[in-house]
Amino acid sequence: MDTKAFKRSLNNSDNYHRKGFGHEAKVSGQMQNEYQSNLIQHIRDQGYTLQRGEVTIRLAEAFGFCWGVERAVAMAYETRTHFPTQRIWITNEIIHNPSVNQRLRDMDVHFIEVVNGEKSFSVVDSGDVVILPAFGASVQEMQLLNEKGCKIVDTTCPWVSKVWNTVEKHKKASHTSIIHGKYNHEETVATSSFAGTYLIVLNLQEAEYVANYILNGGDSAEFLAKFSRSHSVGFDPDRDLERVGIANQTTMLKGETEQIGKLLEHTMMRKYGPDQLNNHFLSFNTICDATQERQDAMLGLVEDNLDLMVVIGGYNSSNTTHLQEIAVERGIPSYHIDSASRIGAGNRVEHKPLHRDLEVAENWLPKGAIAIGITSGASTPDKVVEEVLEKIFELKAVAQAL
Ligand code: SF4
Repeated sequence: MDTKAFKRSLNNSDNYHRKGFGHEAKVSGQMQNEYQSNLIQHIRDQGYTLQRGEVTIRLAEAFGFCWGVERAVAMAYETRTHFPTQRIWITNEIIHNPSVNQRLRDMDVHFIEVVNGEKSFSVVDSGDVVILPAFGASVQEMQLLNEKGCKIVDTTCPWVSKVWNTVEKHKKASHTSIIHGKYNHEETVATSSFAGTYLIVLNLQEAEYVANYILNGGDSAEFLAKFSRSHSVGFDPDRDLERVGIANQTTMLKGETEQIGKLLEHTMMRKYGPDQLNNHFLSFNTICDATQERQDAMLGLVEDNLDLMVVIGGYNSSNTTHLQEIAVERGIPSYHIDSASRIGAGNRVEHKPLHRDLEVAENWLPKGAIAIGITSGASTPDKVVEEVLEKIFELKAVAQAL
């Protein structure tokens, strides 16, 4: 499919909306009430620190709702106001946060169900309104909804669209897009749908395998088996790695994306020589500012003398998981929770250790004075962070009184 031509025709359609509908003032008041927190603002204002009883809170200097998420949620709220009687669907979660998604359900916005790993679009009728989430939707989904005659409200973050433009440029220059991301993350699924030939690498280790193959060749069957879920149809490592370009899922670890870019740049330079580099390698910076700021703030926070970290965000949120990774790498006990309800009485917490399923930890808050580092992913409202802090203060106050 000519994805560029399709996007152009969609942009010209009356059924396609990429901006709000003029209800900003109403929606901003609503969002302020539902998601902002006076306590968190107070902590920000006094240098990101708060002491209460035996607990010292150290907040990361950048955390929580990013610009793209706030914009997507506001557009979803505006959509409800603008189409008060129509059926409204979201092709997925609007963002990776359970409380925000629940709020939209309460506003009678429906979520398209996933049946056997496939989204079930049969429930959507002509004239329905369909919201595409902040991390985008694949070009095939957009085409399907357009053909059904739906009104499409596209909240895709402009940073994500920038990555799509990057892979379009790779395609035009007949370069293979090497996408640093998770093959099954919605954003990467969408990005790869706009790419021509592509290969998705999860981490530096996988990129090193690819670099080695470029330089020394290898067993193509082994290569294809290793990346069986991560390449375009008909991918041939002996043919399709001669010219490559870099793109990424916007929420990956910034340092790792940079390392992968440098590794492949050096690989192409070694293989083809510096004077031929431009014919074999294209690099674009597609790491979004918000991801970068949150990761940098986390790197600053873990330098403090912390007894533990609490990382708050949806369990399927990639940027939250990467914040957790930074704490774990530093050897700081770190608890990833998605809401305050995970913290129970009796000093227990249900949390998700890195790359494992949910676990319950007993006596997770140490006795006596403690310093706790707090951060939250780009999809987490401040209100949720406040609820978590209040639970921690409560638990420690009870323990102190015993
Ligand atoms: S994390 Fe970055 S790319 Fe993702 S929604 Fe936020 S601003 Fe956009």
